[in-house]
Amino acid sequence: MKEINDEAAQLAKPWQKQLNEAFHSVEDLCTYLRLSLVELPISVAATKNFPLRVPLSFAACMEKGNPNDPLLRQVLPVSDEMRIYPGYSADPVGDLSASQQIGVIHKYHGRALLINTGACAIHCRYCFRRNFPYAQLQLGKRQEQAALDYLAANTSITEVILSGGDPLLLSDTRLTLLLAQLSALPSIKRIRLHSRLPIVLPARINDALIDGFNQCIKPIVLVVHCNHANEINQRVISACQRLKSSGITLLNQAVLLKGVNDQAEVLGALSEQLFAIGIMPYYLHLLDKATGTGHFEVSEAEALRLIQDVQDSLPGYLVPQLVREVAGAPAKQRITTPVQESILNQNNDN
Ligand SMILES: *Cc1c(COP(=O)(O)O)cnc(C)c1O
Ligand code: SF4
Repeated sequence: MKEINDEAAQLAKPWQKQLNEAFHSVEDLCTYLRLSLVELPISVAATKNFPLRVPLSFAACMEKGNPNDPLLRQVLPVSDEMRIYPGYSADPVGDLSASQQIGVIHKYHGRALLINTGACAIHCRYCFRRNFPYAQLQLGKRQEQAALDYLAANTSITEVILSGGDPLLLSDTRLTLLLAQLSALPSIKRIRLHSRLPIVLPARINDALIDGFNQCIKPIVLVVHCNHANEINQRVISACQRLKSSGITLLNQAVLLKGVNDQAEVLGALSEQLFAIGIMPYYLHLLDKATGTGHFEVSEAEALRLIQDVQDSLPGYLVPQLVREVAGAPAKQRITTPVQESILNQNNDN
């Protein structure tokens, strides 16, 4: 059994060490959180399907002794995952059928997604990629050249999105080289990274990475993934400050999750906190219907009500766009609030 003796010392270690020492067992995580295993609806089968993985930095943001903590709920393998929900499947967003060649997903005009690594620092139970044959999809060094050739040949692609998995799990050397190779393509105007590491493993934002970003001659957009204001701690704030000061545009995408952030106040607090640390809210995704995630679903009607409430209390620029991914669609589908019937009628009367 792993005991966390000196938390501050652990959190000061290099990110690779923290990653290796992340919680991999439910028992260790529960001991750390002072929770009794028998009180939780843990599922061994769910753990086998998709193992538990939680860095200490993220676990440290959870409330000790709270079995319903919104961060814990995102990572705990529970028996609900084994329930069958109609309409849920292994590849709900059609990414497997859209991978033009190994590791390149070119679904939307002007943008292509590269899957450089299948690995993540944290395993989010609601993730649609939990069912993916990652080893087949991710780019090896050899295939990376084929992906670069694809981008060079398809000059309509102006933005490359490094995704995964988590692209910030690549080594500094490999990432810096990749940024240089991508920047060298004349048609590429921007490089975007989708990463959860600034939130769940902020030690990743180290000097070497910032140097690599600073060397990149094309603008960088970093879309982080934060679902709840409690995920933002002092380490996350420092990491974001460093990113901001190297001129990177920071955006956030969140997933609307039952029991995690399905309250207007929680969403509002998230937007406020993000803004305070220099991150603009971008997307609020409806859950992708991936096998094992049905218990996280918030209905579209409920989602609309929530976003309307957020809209009524915050400036427009702090309201994320509510979107859903539809397999085969040319873009993410915006879910907008219909203008209220009563207001329309009133205007007509005048
Ligand atoms: C989400 C996504 C993008 C990016 O879409 P934006 O609306 O530009 O954020 C690009 N490619 C794929 C395959 C995606 O799933
Ligand atoms: S891809 Fe993102 S949401 Fe999915 S497990 Fe990795 S970090 Fe979590």
